[in-house]
Amino acid sequence: MADGEMLAGGCLCGAIRYRLNGPLLFVSQCCCRDCQKATGTGHTTICGIERKDVILDGEPATFTNAGDTGGDVTRHFCGTCGGRLFTSGTLPGSVVMIQAGSLDTPDAVTPESVIYHKDAVAWDRFDPALPVFEEMSPRANHPALRSLKAQADAL
Ligand SMILES: [Zn+2]
Ligand SMILES: [Zn+2]
Repeated sequence: MADGEMLAGGCLCGAIRYRLNGPLLFVSQCCCRDCQKATGTGHTTICGIERKDVILDGEPATFTNAGDTGGDVTRHFCGTCGGRLFTSGTLPGSVVMIQAGSLDTPDAVTPESVIYHKDAVAWDRFDPALPVFEEMSPRANHPALRSLKAQADAL
């Protein structure tokens, strides 16, 4: 993504739109069971960004449940078409995860890791060059992965 380029996206029917007015903190393939159930797919591709950098136009429906370490996780989606938009969490709260497939230009982002691989299904496939973590890596020291680790509850 070029500096200064503003990514935009929205749901399938177009009722809800957003623009991203800041840098992406990480991009990951998440294989957790909640992401599988929420999307109906083998994994979901998420882009971390500060909530303040998401300019939202429209009012998503939400669903909240408990994440695997106790914090609440809220999934935001269009109440008309069901298109998933982003996920937020109580821990730590300032970062949300945009669903990469909801971007107008999903090829503008590049996944950097595979997380919650312990839940991956046998028929799913990932770029073999990506680091793979069974959950969140405790030894992650890449800045993006540190940020990702902090987000473990929000996945
Ligand atoms: Zn919609
Ligand atoms: Zn997940």
